[in-house]
Order: sequence, then structure tokens, then C-alpha cells
Amino acid sequence: MLKCIDEIPERCGKWRTKQLSFHDKPGEHFTVYHRDPVKAIKALWGDPAFAEHLVYKPGKLFRGAEQTENNRIYSEMWTTGFWNAVQHAIPFGGTVCPVIIASDKTNLTRFSGNKSAYPVYLTIGNLPKALRRKPSARAWGIEMVGGDSNVRKVYPLLCTYVADYPEQCLITCTKYGTCPKCQRKANDLGLASAGDSRTVLWTLGIMKEAHDTSVANQKATLGQDSNSMRKSKSRAHTLAMKHNVAGGIEPFWKDFPLTDIHDCITPDILHQCYQGVFKHLLKWVQEIRFQVLLPTCGVRHFKKGIADFSQVTGTEHKHIAHILLASLTGKVDQRGIVACKALLNFIHLAQYPSHDEDTLGYMDLELNVWHKNKAYFVEQQTTKDQINIPKFHSLLHYVNSIKWLGTTDNYNTEAFERFHIDMAKEAWDATNKRDHFPQMTQWLSRQEKISVHRKMILL
Ligand SMILES: [Zn+2]
Repeated sequence: MLKCIDEIPERCGKWRTKQLSFHDKPGEHFTVYHRDPVKAIKALWGDPAFAEHLVYKPGKLFRGAEQTENNRIYSEMWTTGFWNAVQHAIPFGGTVCPVIIASDKTNLTRFSGNKSAYPVYLTIGNLPKALRRKPSARAWGIEMVGGDSNVRKVYPLLCTYVADYPEQCLITCTKYGTCPKCQRKANDLGLASAGDSRTVLWTLGIMKEAHDTSVANQKATLGQDSNSMRKSKSRAHTLAMKHNVAGGIEPFWKDFPLTDIHDCITPDILHQCYQGVFKHLLKWVQEIRFQVLLPTCGVRHFKKGIADFSQVTGTEHKHIAHILLASLTGKVDQRGIVACKALLNFIHLAQYPSHDEDTLGYMDLELNVWHKNKAYFVEQQTTKDQINIPKFHSLLHYVNSIKWLGTTDNYNTEAFERFHIDMAKEAWDATNKRDHFPQMTQWLSRQEKISVHRKMILL
């Protein structure tokens, strides 16, 4: 039966391999297993199960009869600034295919060993967000003929890259510790406003300048001792670092049309709000023991408090968020409570499945309240770093990102983490744990073919 399955042609093209090594560790080799992303996109477009759900053009939703920017509603990707803007930039009659990519390191071994993988998932914004959460709407990783003998020209454009903070910095060539979306310096991340935007042109400009300086210096120091050559290299490096730009090689997005990689970076509720901002808040109020609140319907009862929790899961964070304010009453100064309440409200608002100018305005308002009252935590010496923390700063970009790429449930990292279990970990379990990556890719192909077959039978 397996032979039969293997003979069925691949929906997303054959798996290919590529060997990679990096300048700083030339002896270390990495093997990348990948498929052609265009074929993966075609597979999603050609899937009969999605045919009636595909969205072909952008639109604008308005609250009430008045069609003004102030009355806009933002929700699905087709209602956003990105799709509406790029639609005018592609040839008339063309269809935009907003490409969403997510990558995150995952440990394959549950209890021992250090086997890990870096799966990259790809999906498209033409599918409604509820459908995108299903594994079948993912492909690993144009021109299409429609009915009525007309040809639909589809333009795949990278618009969203979902990744955690270290990877966001790597992808956007941003120095670790600064913001991948704006030019605020590391020491200014605590300010109440974002800096000038980073743009692809700006980043590439700095990288080119640093590269040219390096080449000119190398020429000037040709024939000189290795010490002067090293100094010239470090001058070029300093130039890029002065602007908080990192990475000397050509980034993969350099020639992507109509894509600004800095705009592709999305809000991340799980890592930024819960595992970042909320975790810090909990640390700062840890001296205040969680009162044992009386058990209440719909609220988890932490009988022993939360001090014994070594690792808090996303769901537990949400349960603690429900009781945090009540636990602080009478233990923390009014300003501390107001600051905590503002952040909790912000985190709650950031998860709305649709937004308008009013609700986005509430998010701005809550963030201002936080900035006005956060000094309490610095004065109490619960934190010494003046809250110059990238994850706190990232909240300043949420409103613009929601307007540009849609509400945060369009690019929820929790959904992608679920795929680690369904795709990476189950694939690992199916291997003999030796030479596992080719076996994992074969397992994925077989699973995909069986799932397509099942869908065809049901149609
Ligand atoms: Zn920023």
C-alpha cells in the first residue's frame, strides 16, 4: 500500500535538499529539506475543498453608511491596508495572493536528547482565517486557469512572517535588542511612542554602505598586516551596528516585489503579551503573594498560589490574568493597579476578532495609561531596567499592524504551535530515530496524499 501511495504524484512538488554552512562556523553543515513554494501555493489554490472559500479581491468594510477611513472595520486579510494597497500596484485584472509564512524552532524529542527542527509553514491570505487554522490549509515549504477558459493571473506576495523575537531580528537584519519595525535605539525602547519606521530601502541602504566601506577599506589595506585589515573590517561592522542593522549577507527578501519585510512582522499575543509582558508583570508583583481568592464560577482556583509554577503554559497565563487584579487589591499602590489594569485591558483588546477606529483607539488609550503609570514599578525597584524591553515596545506597533495585516487571529502563533505537534512531532514519532529527516518528509508526503484522497472521496 505504501508503494501505491508513493507512486501518486506530489501535490506540492518533490522534496529537495540543500546544504548550508555559515561564515562563522564553516565546519558545521545544515541540510534544508524544502519544496517549491510556488507549487505549494498552486496546491492550495487548486484544492477543491477550498474553491468556494477563496477570496479573490480586497475590499473595505465600513461601520454604518458613511464610507470614510474613520469608519473602517479591520478583520480578515482582504479588509486590510496591505491587500487594498498592493491591488493597485499589480497589473489590471490580476489577483493578489498574500503569502503568510511562519517558522519556529521545535524540539522533537520530548524527554531526552536534543533533536530539534525548524519547520517553515506556508499559507495564503485568500483563505478565511478560520480555515487557515486547519492543517490541510498549510503547505510545506503563476499562472492559473479558471473556468470559462479565462486565465487568472495570480501574484504571490509575501505579506506576513510569523516568528519569535530572535528570529524576527534575524529575518529583518535587525540588531538583537532593538526593534525590527522602527529605528528606536535599544536605550529608548521605554519611550511612549515608536520611532521612524525601518523600511527595506533604509535597511538595504545601510547594508550597502557598510559593504562598500568594507570593500574600500580592504583595497586600502591590501598588502598591509592582518591587524589593519581586521580594523578596516570592524569599521564597516561598526557602521551597520550604529544603525542597529545586522547581517552582512544578502537577505532572501531583497528582490521580493511589493514586500517590505519590516511590515511583515506581526504582533505576537503568545510570546509578546503572555510570555513577555504578562510574565514580567507577574515577576514584578511576585512579592505580593497571590491571595487565595474564593472559588468563583468560570475562574480557575489557585489553591496554593502560583509561586510553585516552574513553567506556566499559555492557558495558565490566561487563567492567572483573570484573577491578577483582584489579587493585587490592597497589596499594591493605586498607580500599580492602574498600570496592571491598562496592560490587561490592552492584551484583551488585542485579541478582538474585528476592530474599528473606536476599539483601536481604546488600545492606544490603554497603552498611554500604562506609560503614565509604569514608573511605579521602577520606583518600587521591582525592575531596574526602566522597562527598556523589546516586548513592551512591540505593543506600540499593534494598532498599525492590525490595520495593515488584519486582526491578530490572522497570524496567531498558538495555531502554528499546534502544527508542531501534528506535523513535526508526529512525523518524528514515525521515524526509526536515525536519518530521521528524509523519513519525516516521506511521512508528511504520505499523510498529505491520504488526506487529499479522503477529501476527494467525500466531495
Ligand atoms: Zn519599534
